[in-house]
Amino acid sequence: MYLRCRTGNTVTDAEFAFLAGLPGGQYQLPHRVTCDLQEGHGQDHIAFVQCLDQAEQSAWWLTWTRDGRSLIELPYCCDDCTPADACLLPEGHDGRHSPQLTTVLAPPPDLHLFAAAPTRAR
Ligand SMILES: [Zn+2]
Ligand SMILES: [Zn+2]
Repeated sequence: MYLRCRTGNTVTDAEFAFLAGLPGGQYQLPHRVTCDLQEGHGQDHIAFVQCLDQAEQSAWWLTWTRDGRSLIELPYCCDDCTPADACLLPEGHDGRHSPQLTTVLAPPPDLHLFAAAPTRAR
């Protein structure tokens, strides 16, 4: 697995109102988003905000850089699209496809953070 970028941003009141006014929203709108791309990506940050399409062919995304931001509607990425393994990132995205991304990397197998202390029989 590969880590996501996770850079955060806040959806502004104006953006929220615009998205709330679009008919057919499939999901509850977020007030805060984090970038969905792979860590270290080269493009603008981008985060899913809403899907209006029951067939989920495209979605609305918030994209931003240090200098600006915009809401855009883009089709989903469909390289290697199979129902079980569909990539939930926009078409043409940088980095790995979403099924290969995670926000938490598994600890190495030799790290036993949650192992119970051995009980000693006396
Ligand atoms: Zn990012
Ligand atoms: Zn993809």
